[in-house]
Amino acid sequence: MIGGRSLLATLCGRLAALLGLILLAASASSAQARALDVERDLCHAVTDTTPSDDALHRLRFVCHGAPQDYQGRSLWLRISLDARPVQDGLALMLHNSRFDRLAVGFSYADGATRWQRVRSGDFGSHWRAGGQILFEAPARGVALTAVTMRFDGLAAHRLVRARILAADEAGVQVAGMAAAIGAALTLLLVSGIYSLSLAVAVRRQYLAWQAAWSAAMLLWGTLWSQAHLALVPAMAGTATAQSCTFLACFAIAVATASAVTAVERGRAARGLRVAALFLGVGVGLAGIPLALMRSGDLGLFADMLGLAILADLILVAIYLVLAWRRGSVEARDFLAAWGVPMAVLAFIHIVDVNRDFWGGGSQLVVLVAATWQALWLAAAATRRLAQLRIERDHARDAEARAQALARRDPLTGLPNRRGFIDSVTPLLDRARLDNLPAALLLVDIDRFKSINDIHGHEAGDAVLCTIGQRIERWEGPMCTVARLGGEEFGLLTIGMEGIVLGRFAESVRRGLADCDHGATVGDRPVTASIGVAEVHPACDFKQLYRIADEALYDAKRGGRNKVVVQRHRDGPPRATDRETALLK
Ligand code: GH3
Ligand code: MG
Ligand code: MG
Repeated sequence: MIGGRSLLATLCGRLAALLGLILLAASASSAQARALDVERDLCHAVTDTTPSDDALHRLRFVCHGAPQDYQGRSLWLRISLDARPVQDGLALMLHNSRFDRLAVGFSYADGATRWQRVRSGDFGSHWRAGGQILFEAPARGVALTAVTMRFDGLAAHRLVRARILAADEAGVQVAGMAAAIGAALTLLLVSGIYSLSLAVAVRRQYLAWQAAWSAAMLLWGTLWSQAHLALVPAMAGTATAQSCTFLACFAIAVATASAVTAVERGRAARGLRVAALFLGVGVGLAGIPLALMRSGDLGLFADMLGLAILADLILVAIYLVLAWRRGSVEARDFLAAWGVPMAVLAFIHIVDVNRDFWGGGSQLVVLVAATWQALWLAAAATRRLAQLRIERDHARDAEARAQALARRDPLTGLPNRRGFIDSVTPLLDRARLDNLPAALLLVDIDRFKSINDIHGHEAGDAVLCTIGQRIERWEGPMCTVARLGGEEFGLLTIGMEGIVLGRFAESVRRGLADCDHGATVGDRPVTASIGVAEVHPACDFKQLYRIADEALYDAKRGGRNKVVVQRHRDGPPRATDRETALLK
């Protein structure tokens, strides 16, 4: 998981850097192109939509001020190239906007004008990646003198983003933009799928919102870049521009919900939470009328919406900072992720970059920033989950250690009664099913109390340890051993019975009696009495213990340092078939 995390983080970093480099290259090379400002660089004329494009020669163009009353009519925009006649190889690149029809006329020094036309729903072969519409001047060997754009039903002249540039440069820019957009959309798709899988796996709401946000941005990016026109050419133009407006607003609302739900309730002020959500939803809803608008001051509305978006982002940022200061890790990760898009949005509201970045302008920057945000959030969620997993593994280890300790006797290191019962119960069950005999040897040190009394408690402990070490040596596949409490030990055997068992019990008694306790109790002999319960077929531990205890009692009564076996050959013991064998 850790390896995966660092790999993901490295990958994110590299891809973000690559996108940044592409953007940098885009801004550098776009300096070659000439951006056209409608009010500053272009002359304009307004007519009804009825005259044909050839009416161009009869028009009187005005070369100052802003065009008026063109909505629902034809707006003609013309740039004269007289001062600097250009030979062949010139192109006009426009960003998609809301209009019904656009005709671009290239006028030549010999008086001819060659028209190329697109209309909403049919951009023919003119559409390019990054929302661009490309018109290349036909090669005629005659100098170009002017370029005219005729928009029918244009929603707002402020939305016109046109550039004149060399045709070969246009080709390079389109290819570069396609690469940048392809990379960004792929990353958005991957991070969206990843967030969704995480949301399903760990059932966290904010991850689902995050996946929804990635999906909204992916859809927006696809529509804005016009990649969808390869499949649905009829969406060219206004329908695409309107969908983009709506999706951009919707994405802001989803992003707000994602950030707000990432922070646990109580980590930030409730008022702030509600205000951020309210503003986010407001921006999302504002996208609907703004998407449908075809007239009026669209530019002004867009600016106002931009301010609302900025206010929403600032509110979310404040919310996250407060939550972060109150210890929310998710809030910290979100802040880091939102930092870049926030800065980008603020930047594009202050500086007009719409004709920069190969004509991709603010949209291309937003797409790259969104990709960065999606990747960062996915990486942060992975890191957080990796931490949780490590913490969970530690907790499990600690619990397993505590469980093991609870089953072991700290003085001798042998299993205690609980551990013994846990391990012998399945053995006894199995033996009963297989019709095998089971035997419990209950070992009790003789007159142990007097050892404590005469030599002290520590000497008693040392004797217990020595006995414990000796008993541990009988542990094996046939025999399970434990300290059952005080100076009492247990050995359970499966499959051993009759004389063999008797001999084994006897060897245990002798082995214990032969232990050397000279260092602690001098030459005082330390012996043990053994009560053996032998049952065929095996019974449960409780019954076995009761029988062994009775046998042990008999051994003590019989003079100690003895083995007494109680045999029960017909399953669980009955009081009548008690058979006692005194082996010593
Ligand atoms: P018997 O031969 O009848 O078994 O006599 P006994 O003295 O061994 O039996 P009794 O039950 O009277 O005494 C057992 C003693 O074992 C009492 C208790 O203080 C001591 N004992 C129990 N657990 C420990 C221990 O962990 N360490 C030490 N040093 N003594 C213990
Ligand atoms: Mg005892
Ligand atoms: Mg004893």
